[in-house]
Amino acid sequence: MIVTADPTDVSRAVKDARDNTARIGLVPTMGALHEGHLSLVQAARDECRFVVVSLFVNPTQFGPHEDFDLYPRPLEADLTTCRNAGVNLVFHPETDTIYPDGCATFVEVDGLSQTLEGRFRPGHFRGVTTVVLTLLNIVRPDVAYFGHKDYQQQLLIRQMCRDLALPVEIRTCPTVRAADGLALSSRNRYLDAEQRRSALTLWESLSLARDQLVAGKTDLAAIRQAMHNHLASTPRVNVDYATIVHPDTLEEPSQPLPNMIAIVAARVDDLRLIDNLPITLHTIESAFYASGPVSYPS
Ligand code: AMP
Repeated sequence: MIVTADPTDVSRAVKDARDNTARIGLVPTMGALHEGHLSLVQAARDECRFVVVSLFVNPTQFGPHEDFDLYPRPLEADLTTCRNAGVNLVFHPETDTIYPDGCATFVEVDGLSQTLEGRFRPGHFRGVTTVVLTLLNIVRPDVAYFGHKDYQQQLLIRQMCRDLALPVEIRTCPTVRAADGLALSSRNRYLDAEQRRSALTLWESLSLARDQLVAGKTDLAAIRQAMHNHLASTPRVNVDYATIVHPDTLEEPSQPLPNMIAIVAARVDDLRLIDNLPITLHTIESAFYASGPVSYPS
């Protein structure tokens, strides 16, 4: 396994691999790797002969009062995890490699980046799309892998790649959860036992929405309120949003659609967590809707 902080080494290794006609896969992460990240690595290994993982805690996607300094950075453990997972190259650049002195260019996806996470974390997605574009330019993968867990993020990245004609395929992999439903997250390690119990209400709130919709309830406003109430009634939990949205536009429909995303963000004390759940209603005739069936990755 090659380990480097130098983009030139990355380009050279990728070029050598490409000369051997290997497909190149990139899994961008902020490190503190867990089974969720490893599922992306596995998906990359299934499709690509050369798998690159980037470990970079990206400062531009954190707000001034967010947890950039506290974000875990267990580099040695991550390298061991990558080695054991069969990763071919780990790229862990310094901040000034990604943002050289005088760097003044950012990329921003209008519209989609303003809602949900964008409303509560102004500038967050500008940082995300900028770093992802830079990583794509350094690594030049054929395929890049993202998690459904960050639903809005993968949607924005797909749009950026489409809009800028980037020669890369984007894959979105299902959310990996603990046995009780809590979505795995690098930040979970900071939850004590009581906070973890509170954090589980994110999953409960999503499940509640799914159960009500599958049971045939159609009053989306009432379901959204029930999701919100379930979270808000939990000690130590402050809700940012709890809603049901269109999978492509992230707009809130007034009537159930064949495919929807239930999506939540809440703070457990100081720790902010997000989660979402795709909901499919087989009983709804998709042809009924003018826009036709909506697709999102399973
Ligand atoms: P992060 O290190 O949190 O920036 O995440 C890196 C990538 O891993 C992103 O594409 C995330 O969506 C994905 N990811 C994070 N948690 C999970 C999870 N529980 N299941 C699947 N993918 C995940």
